[in-house]
Amino acid sequence: RAKTAGGGTFCFYSTDMNARSIERLEMAAALRHAVERGELLLHYQPQLSLRTGKLIGAEALVRWLRPGHGLVPPSEFIPLAEELGIIAGIGEWVLREACRQNQAWRAQGLPALTVAVNLSVRQFETQDVVSMAGQALRDSGLPPEALELELTESAVMADAEAFVHSTERLKSLGVTVSLDDFGTGFSSLCHLQRLALDRLKIDQSFVAKAASHPDSAVIAQTIISLGHSLKLAVIAEGVENAEQLELLRDWGCDEIQGYFLSRPVPAKDLALMLAKQGPVLIGLTEVASIPD
Ligand code: C2E
Ligand code: MG
Ligand code: MG
Ligand code: MG
Repeated sequence: RAKTAGGGTFCFYSTDMNARSIERLEMAAALRHAVERGELLLHYQPQLSLRTGKLIGAEALVRWLRPGHGLVPPSEFIPLAEELGIIAGIGEWVLREACRQNQAWRAQGLPALTVAVNLSVRQFETQDVVSMAGQALRDSGLPPEALELELTESAVMADAEAFVHSTERLKSLGVTVSLDDFGTGFSSLCHLQRLALDRLKIDQSFVAKAASHPDSAVIAQTIISLGHSLKLAVIAEGVENAEQLELLRDWGCDEIQGYFLSRPVPAKDLALMLAKQGPVLIGLTEVASIPD
């Protein structure tokens, strides 16, 4: 309905819509300064090898501690940052901070871990991600093999040729490259073969239904054998219970990540888990004792 705004002008929006667009504008204005104001932080979600029962990596997941709004999840501000064209600055901060943190853990003598960083397709359009990664590695002193970069299928589809080239350059840096949310996009098998990938991440939607929906189970199994045929490691994300873990292990999945193991946690909590691997993996003792 039309509403009379102050000053007698007509505004053809419902009050509700008006409130939402104002909130969005405020959010955009605040987000533009989030990096320089030090409001971003990373949580880390551990990844477990089903072969060794040990933690092998952690995915860095960004959060925004927005004043007056608490901890904002990435789903609420990453798409906005992409629209506003300010994802490059956020992406660079995430990459540098993840490298710095991983190197700090190593310097503390904690078991070596790979840190995985998500890259948005828009970053490839607006910045030289490969040089940026090289710079972040040099500045932090982190060895390249301790950094993993996650791309999505949608990114690959946007410009397959450019991506083949980018992944080759990333590979020559010595970092690990993985394809996130695999199975939800429509990347062709031909692309998959040409990309210089190391790892496939089975999308959590298939994991969630692995025990209850035969179709999802078949898809998960197919991704595992496809990955292995292409000599890629396969990790399942979104593992929430023991039943899912058992299935994935039976199907030969290499690694898992999910709430069953741990939610994404602040860096200091991840360091504690690393320091005391035994107690953390109590629920997974069968996994740890499985002979290879
Ligand atoms: P993603 O990369 O696929 O990350 C996995 C998401 O699933 C994370 O959500 C994680 O908290 C959640 N998750 C992990 N285990 C479970 C589980 O067992 N059950 C369920 N239901 N969920 C689980 P989060 O942290 O909210 O991140 C959402 C998405 O935001 C990420 O999906 C990624 O696409 C994006 N994102 C996060 N950090 C960054 C970043 O630094 N840069 C960019 N470009 N995107 C990011
Ligand atoms: Mg990811
Ligand atoms: Mg994912
Ligand atoms: Mg996802």
